[in-house]
Amino acid sequence: MIDVLRPTGLEAALEAKAEHPSAVPIAGGTDLMVALNARRITPDAILDLGRVPELQQCRTDDGTIFLGASVTYTRILQELADQIVLAQAARTVGSLQIRNRGTVGGNLGTASPAGDALPALAAYDAEVVLASTTATRTLTVTEFLTGPKRNALQPTELIVGVRWRRRRHVGSFSKVGRRAAIVIAAASLTLVLDDERHDVRVALGAVGPTVLRAPDAERFAAEALAEAGVWEDPGATVPATVFDEFAARVTATARPIDDQRATAAYRRHVCGVLAGRALRWALTERTPTATAR
Ligand SMILES: Cc1cc2nc3c(=O)[nH]c(=O)nc-3n(C[C@H](O)[C@H](O)[C@H](O)COP(=O)(O)OP(=O)(O)OC[C@H]3O[C@@H](n4cnc5c(N)ncnc54)[C@H](O)[C@@H]3O)c2cc1C
Repeated sequence: MIDVLRPTGLEAALEAKAEHPSAVPIAGGTDLMVALNARRITPDAILDLGRVPELQQCRTDDGTIFLGASVTYTRILQELADQIVLAQAARTVGSLQIRNRGTVGGNLGTASPAGDALPALAAYDAEVVLASTTATRTLTVTEFLTGPKRNALQPTELIVGVRWRRRRHVGSFSKVGRRAAIVIAAASLTLVLDDERHDVRVALGAVGPTVLRAPDAERFAAEALAEAGVWEDPGATVPATVFDEFAARVTATARPIDDQRATAAYRRHVCGVLAGRALRWALTERTPTATAR
């Protein structure tokens, strides 16, 4: 028999976790129920987070967005549409039913290298907020994700949410898989071109043990765009070689494997194609004559 703990607030949820560290939290259940049904996990207790309002908050405080762990993809699409790369990632998750149930906290909890919200959050330089009865701490997304399906969560902690600065930006989330919809990524790429910090941030999904940032490619692109004068003049021309070099540097960051979804060689190829395309799209979006894609 499995005990089900049903706290009605964050404090009670953290107390329940402190008393029952082996209790497995459940938010939307779209990953957990699959694991339970397949008997991949056999917990003695489940901690139902469905009645914890603090985890369902989505708000902006003084320019910082806080996205509660139990906010669903459907709500992200409704409430954070201007956070374009996260919204695009949310739109690609599963089907409508999965987006109605699945949450960003669950994506972080599962920590799959193919989790679609994760590269978007990494590219926003988001922090994961973790809490126990004794402390609250924050980790960057890449610090939080420690390996394939592994994260830095301690047994007495819960993911409270994620937060990042709301900044003027353009960018995209691209995902390649075996079919067009309801598909787990074989490779994904998120690019953010930040108009306030004048930087370019790239995060790759499903091509490494966890989400990968591409610092060398990011630095190269930011410098090349500065040299071309793009930050001041959105219409400035960027030499074609910049896109090729950027794509090559992103590809060099990938650490893919062969598995049932794709070969490592194909994944590497996809990274380069998505990188060049994402940079072109972002620059086009900044031009005065840009139309919505
Ligand atoms: C048909 C189908 C299609 C899918 N398609 C996609 C897809 O396209 N892209 C994608 O990224 N994912 C996909 N998924 C996976 C899943 O929907 C996502 O990972 C989703 O974000 C999980 O959220 P959830 O709320 O359902 O998590 P749950 O199943 O409730 O939990 C997942 C894990 O996170 C832990 N957890 C949840 N909340 C917390 C918290 N606050 N604190 C600590 N731990 C917590 C749980 O204990 C569990 O280990 C799909 C799943 C299905 C069944």
